Amino acid sequence: MSEPLHYRTATDLARGLAAGETSAEEVARAVIERTQAVEPKVRAFHHRDEEDALEQARASDRRRAEGRCLGPLDGIPVGIKDVLAVEGQPLTCSSKMLENFVAPYDATVIRRLKERGAVLWGRLNMDEFAMGSSTENSAFQVTANPWDPERIPGGSSGGSAAACAAGEAILTLGSDTGGSIRQPAALCGIVGMKPTYGLVSRYGLVAFASSLDQIGPFARSVEDAALLIGAIAGHDPLDSTSYRAEIPDYAEAVRSARPPWKIGIPGEYFGEGLDPEVRAAVELAIEFYRAEGCEIIDISLPHTQYAVAVYYIIATAEASSNLARYDGVRYGHRAAEAKDAVDLYFQSRAEGFGSEVKRRIILGTYVLSSGYYDAYYLRAQKVRTLIRQDFLEAFKRVDAVLTPTSPVPAFKRGERTSDPLAMYLSDIYTISANLAGLPGISVPCGLSSGHLPIGLQLIGQPFGEAGLLGMAGHFERHHDHHLKRPPL
Ligand code: GLN
Repeated sequence: MSEPLHYRTATDLARGLAAGETSAEEVARAVIERTQAVEPKVRAFHHRDEEDALEQARASDRRRAEGRCLGPLDGIPVGIKDVLAVEGQPLTCSSKMLENFVAPYDATVIRRLKERGAVLWGRLNMDEFAMGSSTENSAFQVTANPWDPERIPGGSSGGSAAACAAGEAILTLGSDTGGSIRQPAALCGIVGMKPTYGLVSRYGLVAFASSLDQIGPFARSVEDAALLIGAIAGHDPLDSTSYRAEIPDYAEAVRSARPPWKIGIPGEYFGEGLDPEVRAAVELAIEFYRAEGCEIIDISLPHTQYAVAVYYIIATAEASSNLARYDGVRYGHRAAEAKDAVDLYFQSRAEGFGSEVKRRIILGTYVLSSGYYDAYYLRAQKVRTLIRQDFLEAFKRVDAVLTPTSPVPAFKRGERTSDPLAMYLSDIYTISANLAGLPGISVPCGLSSGHLPIGLQLIGQPFGEAGLLGMAGHFERHHDHHLKRPPL
């Protein structure tokens, strides 16, 4: 293997660690040094504790020496989006509101990673409270796309995507409410997956829109993504929406998957607004699957045109309710000079939230208010059901739906910040999977003429992660897009 340690996959490192070719401490040092070298350009991290990471790595090496290795993630550095609670670490959600907040407990996904010996590495930048598609809504810093520092890494999990793509972590975790894992994965040239709603516990994930949010992995290979999902998935009594299911060996599913499959191509995802180079790359992928013996079936998802509108009603409604807890009293930013209690709420929220978060709270409060509830929120819920039915109908004929992940490659910093609607359209292909609760994965499928990554998306049936990962892995096995590295 000629790749430096920081660019190797977790799967490969696990083999090397088991064979005694390297140590967890050596891997942690490689990742730390890489981060020191490129972070001035990438700016993916809010917070890093190098000593703590090295200490975790040394503990992993000691376990291994004593024959108590905790599995393939033992000793692997995993970066964490700054929306997941890690006991004793800062948890800011890229918001002034939580600038000085320290998490008092571990999220369930974090507890599971600790039980598996992963080395938790840093806190990664994001759009404030996960609202955005470019990570420009962070109150603290702008993260660069490692492929072109003038461009955005996507969002809202832009720090997680950029860090993984740049070799500043082996794996990272993000959250996806409308595309926030898949879209930045596509724009940074790596794999990102949103699991089925309910597969991964949301306990300890700061809530944005609770009926849409899911935690998922970023990785530089499909098998690595499978490994990380397998580690974090599974029933959790602390999340009442958590699904009771046996968790299959997803990594094994990736290794053993073989075509043919029936793949649906929805006409609605290949219309106006799709960049010609993205279209060409995705069409090449379709031709690949056809040549592998898959049946390519044209399908229709007729309610697709309503997805963005429905999402921005439901997501903002839920956000307005979830964000009501930031009142400057129990935790979070508290205004210094308030006249009385009501003034304290007003001032603290006015000072603590950024403009996109305020826009969402106002919109969400509006669509829930009496007189408008029926016209907006209730109708949006009905159309959400129709969108889900479109997919369930399609899955009677196909195993998965194939689409572009993002209509365009990474855009320039500042290009869409003054036009919220243009920004909202970044997620036009990813939002429906959240509304329908379905798993979706983005896999690198090409580079544009400007050397910017392009991703293809596969959307699967509820709890069909194993099959979906298998299809994605088969594409990856026969291509080298995932092996291309950004010119940092
Ligand atoms: N870009 C979408 C939004 O701004 C999705 C964000 C997300 O998935 N967290 O809401």
